[in-house]
Amino acid sequence: MKFYSTNNSQHKVSLREAVLKGLAPDGGLYLPEQIPVLPKSFIGSLSEQSNVSMALTVARNLLGGEVEEKELQRIVEQTVFFDVPVVEVENNVYSLELFHGPTLAFKDFGARFMASLLGYFSKSEKEEITVLVATSGDTGSAVAHGFHKVPGVRVFVLYPSGKVSDLQEKQFTTLGDNITALEIDGTFDDCQRLVKTAFQDAELKSKLVLTSANSINIARLIPQSFYYFFTLAQLGLKEPVVFSIPSGNFGNLTGGILAWKMGLPIYQFIASTNVNDIVPCYLDNGKFNPRPSIQTISNAMDVGNPSNFARMLTLFHDDYYEMTQMIKGYSFTDEETREGMRAVDKQSGYTLDPHGAVGYLGLKKYQTSHSVKGVFLETAHPGKFREVVEETLGRKIELPERLNNLITRQKKSIEMSSTFDEFREFLLKY
Ligand SMILES: *Cc1c(COP(=O)(O)O)cnc(C)c1O
Repeated sequence: MKFYSTNNSQHKVSLREAVLKGLAPDGGLYLPEQIPVLPKSFIGSLSEQSNVSMALTVARNLLGGEVEEKELQRIVEQTVFFDVPVVEVENNVYSLELFHGPTLAFKDFGARFMASLLGYFSKSEKEEITVLVATSGDTGSAVAHGFHKVPGVRVFVLYPSGKVSDLQEKQFTTLGDNITALEIDGTFDDCQRLVKTAFQDAELKSKLVLTSANSINIARLIPQSFYYFFTLAQLGLKEPVVFSIPSGNFGNLTGGILAWKMGLPIYQFIASTNVNDIVPCYLDNGKFNPRPSIQTISNAMDVGNPSNFARMLTLFHDDYYEMTQMIKGYSFTDEETREGMRAVDKQSGYTLDPHGAVGYLGLKKYQTSHSVKGVFLETAHPGKFREVVEETLGRKIELPERLNNLITRQKKSIEMSSTFDEFREFLLKY
């Protein structure tokens, strides 16, 4: 399987190059040149298969021939070793709990898959690989944990100072070793711009083997298609199922599109956002207007220029009509999000995190005019956003042990302005 750039379908590279480059030289994002439809017999027997076996079939389908079978199996096993339960919250409303991994958010899937894959590629690389990652919270922790102590790989996590929760910050500033946290005086968009600019800098590119672990990396994207299969394995295929995806950079939703293109019978996607509603607006009026992000309580989705939009367009062949048939978009204010969290807490005792709550609200809105079974992605454990959750629900929530242990650990970060020159000098000197 080769991978092409969304800016030029003639520009094709190997998986290794796509993963190491992150972004194509023309600024496009990589996609597999084909998305083979899986056999009906595979889809029909999902409920009889283990998560590892489903994930391995999907990975093989998209990476065919680029990774030795034994290694691919090892990579998949290191990615999906934790539970991925589908929990009934209300009649016809299910929560796909993606937060049972090491850092309690769905980004563990992409980060662990990419770390294992890069570890495999680095064996034949003479120089150390430098991974750059911009984060609004969860990416940084998942990537830091996934890559911690992977030989031959150094990681720089860029995050906006004061704009991530204390526990999130602890998750990527306390590891040390090959993980360095850069605390940027700016927004998430500034962090993302610094990373993107680094990839266009000739001197940096010639002196370092640079790659990005942001959701633009194809190695992050592919494992995000796995759990759509796991969900239908648990719910069965008898009735149509819609998925509501709380979105920021739209990696999760793009993973869903891949699963659908591989033949998984998904009836509808719902793109649920906070007030950073660039994609819902596009679905509404056909105009894509990126703009500076607005801070909200679902801060991992505070994205003003969703990077995976280019992939979504390409996967729908730039066909606006086709995209709007398959994806509906809704956005919600913080107040609506908090009301949703309180209502669910009261009615069913289920604790939503602010991101999952946006997904829940999108699903409920869709269901007011469609009587259909629906799943929302619960993308993080509520404990990761305990300040907001406790303040909203007016009660304490229990923290999982893994988070509790972090509270007393010492944060270590390097403070930096959001100017590219300073970042560039730092990388060259490091
Ligand atoms: C990253 C993240 C999102 C947004 O996911 P995208 O793939 O960027 O759309 C949603 N919720 C949580 C908790 C996240 O960490």
